[in-house]
Amino acid sequence: LYNQVQDLKGNIRVYCRVRPFLPGKPSSFSTIGNIEDGTITILTHSKNGKEGRKVFTFNKVFGPAATQGEVFSDTQPLIRSVLDGYNVCIFAYGQTGSGKTHTMSGPRELTDESMGVNYRALNDLFLLSKQRKDSTSYDIYVQMIEIYNEQVRDLLVIDGSNKRVEIRNSSQNGVNVPEANLVPVSSTSDVIHLMNIGQRNRAVSATALNDRSSRSHSCLTVHVHGKELASGTITRGCMHLVDLAGSERVDKSEVVGERLKEAQHINKSLSALGDVISSLAQKNSHVPYRNSKLTQLLQDSLGGQAKTLMFVHISPDPESLGETISTLKFAERVSAV
Ligand code: ADP
Ligand code: MG
Repeated sequence: LYNQVQDLKGNIRVYCRVRPFLPGKPSSFSTIGNIEDGTITILTHSKNGKEGRKVFTFNKVFGPAATQGEVFSDTQPLIRSVLDGYNVCIFAYGQTGSGKTHTMSGPRELTDESMGVNYRALNDLFLLSKQRKDSTSYDIYVQMIEIYNEQVRDLLVIDGSNKRVEIRNSSQNGVNVPEANLVPVSSTSDVIHLMNIGQRNRAVSATALNDRSSRSHSCLTVHVHGKELASGTITRGCMHLVDLAGSERVDKSEVVGERLKEAQHINKSLSALGDVISSLAQKNSHVPYRNSKLTQLLQDSLGGQAKTLMFVHISPDPESLGETISTLKFAERVSAV
């Protein structure tokens, strides 16, 4: 049915998104040069003022004017394939402040226009499952967890208990997190309600000066169970929507204690993710899934029959140039299939 996504199987697609300048923080200079289909030119300035250019190529590049709707519509076929029993994984990667949460969730004050991929994805699954109701009955469930310092926590607890859970791997059920709340959803308002609980639970553990959300990975997992009415055939698809921890490198000479520990954990899990993706791309027989909680969790949804999309986010600000270049280099490594 969704032939157009068949060719995505086993491949990693990479979309780059540039956020606009933020209101109240205009800049005389943008590091973003030409954007054309899949290429983006980054303008660099060396100390002696000489201008340079670096060109990067991805499956698609969204400029600062791209809307949430435009970004979603390019992602929609991939998302829909979860109803046909595929496993799907969508990541948001980039330094803190580059727009990851904007893409996946949206701004704090949500409107229909500003809703991110998470909401739109679930809405679309509800819509499509209704359209198919005469041939297939679907049940849709969500889980929401956070990985912080290599510990996994359930974000869908109502008592704010910050419950620790474990990732399990069984031959029968594959990779799963059985202790995390698994909540049936069937409408947009269900989803908004749950995401609010999840966001509140993330906020509880953060102090004002310590925005933990930028230093943990959060993952919304959508489980789809389908039953074909005529034949009784069962399909199971699973989709992970992951808002990754900020990828910025922390100067080890400047941070100590808790902050250093966090930075080391983030570094470890993001490089584990890069290693898994590049070893899949090179078709290596050994894929190092076990090197981090993040890659363990996503094991069934990366490689094999699964479909993966990474949104890499960059900012146009000149002071972010160093991080912008390293983000794009990471993305290039990931997409070098
Ligand atoms: P991150 O999650 O990567 O730390 P955010 O998504 O929180 O970054 O974005 C940082 C700021 O930039 C927020 O105020 C957000 O609303 C704004 N922003 C990010 N991307 C866009 C965009 N495409 N359009 C408008 N505002 C954006
Ligand atoms: Mg964020």
